[in-house]
Amino acid sequence: MPGEFDLIRDCFSHPVHHSDLGVGDDAALFRTAPGMQTVVSSDMLVAGNHFFVDADPTLLGWKTAAVNISDMAAMGADPRWITLALALPTADETWVRKLAAGFRTCCETYVVDWVGGDTTRGPLNLCATIVGEVPFGQAILRNGAHPGDDVWISGWPGLAALGLRSLQGGVKLAGDWHELCIERLHRPVPRVALGRALRGVASAMLDVSDGLSGDLGHILESSSVGAVLQEAALPLLPLLNACNDAAAARDALLGGGDDYELLFCAPRERGAHIEEIGHRLSLPLTRIGRVVTNPGLWLQRRDGQCAPVTIRSYDHFSG
Ligand code: ADP
Ligand code: MG
Repeated sequence: MPGEFDLIRDCFSHPVHHSDLGVGDDAALFRTAPGMQTVVSSDMLVAGNHFFVDADPTLLGWKTAAVNISDMAAMGADPRWITLALALPTADETWVRKLAAGFRTCCETYVVDWVGGDTTRGPLNLCATIVGEVPFGQAILRNGAHPGDDVWISGWPGLAALGLRSLQGGVKLAGDWHELCIERLHRPVPRVALGRALRGVASAMLDVSDGLSGDLGHILESSSVGAVLQEAALPLLPLLNACNDAAAARDALLGGGDDYELLFCAPRERGAHIEEIGHRLSLPLTRIGRVVTNPGLWLQRRDGQCAPVTIRSYDHFSG
């Protein structure tokens, strides 16, 4: 069985693109550019909580990097450097190699330097810390939404939640949809190019990790506003095609996490520009509602009636 130092040498050492020193010394060295703000975030994945213990290590590696990179996208920042702290029950080299390969593939895809980390024995746990850059003052925070702004969502949120429900036996998915939903669950795609394109355009933004309604709730609370979502505008079609169950589709869209799509607000007059960004990136961007003055979240049904939405999102310490 390899030791800690063999693993570090064989699995974690690799060339870097924009760092002065990567893995191998007591710490890494890199320079941030003048005029930029440094952006830092950590995300931890715990076995049995965020992933099944027997999860495919390559996909797990990808996801650990992807969820961290997504936090940079959500700030409108460019992801640059990442570290990975690992607790492993055993030094299973084949498993660690696959994990490292998945992590590294995701890093290479987004040109992020994997510059260090830590490796220790313990219950399986993966914690990455990511560092990014954004031009000074241009980060997109949660607290900038204004009454009258439109609420937008990228991609097809809810597919990952349907994938999870399908794995748990709670829903049956048609044809190839099961594979697609599982792919969205295990291999999320951080929307870095979109986040960058929305600098100076979006008034508030976050990535949907815990569920659209709950995550929108964070923006509304930070910005001291409310929102009305239009049921007819929600991107429900793929979810309906996948599960053929209107309630499950709506539940996955509003309450399901793990898609890492970007949810953002923007002044109405930026709408055409946002649509252009969507075309350029070949990414569906859907206007799903409007920010209002009254706090709270409502859903306007097709018949015009408004009903309050119970804000639901995944919370590790309750329900
Ligand atoms: P120290 O004892 O000084 O903390 P370590 O032996 O933990 O040093 O790490 C040696 C080098 O290997 C460091 O550069 C560290 O960043 C790197 N390293 C350790 N574990 C990982 C990992 N999981 N991923 C990437 N680099 C790692
Ligand atoms: Mg160490």
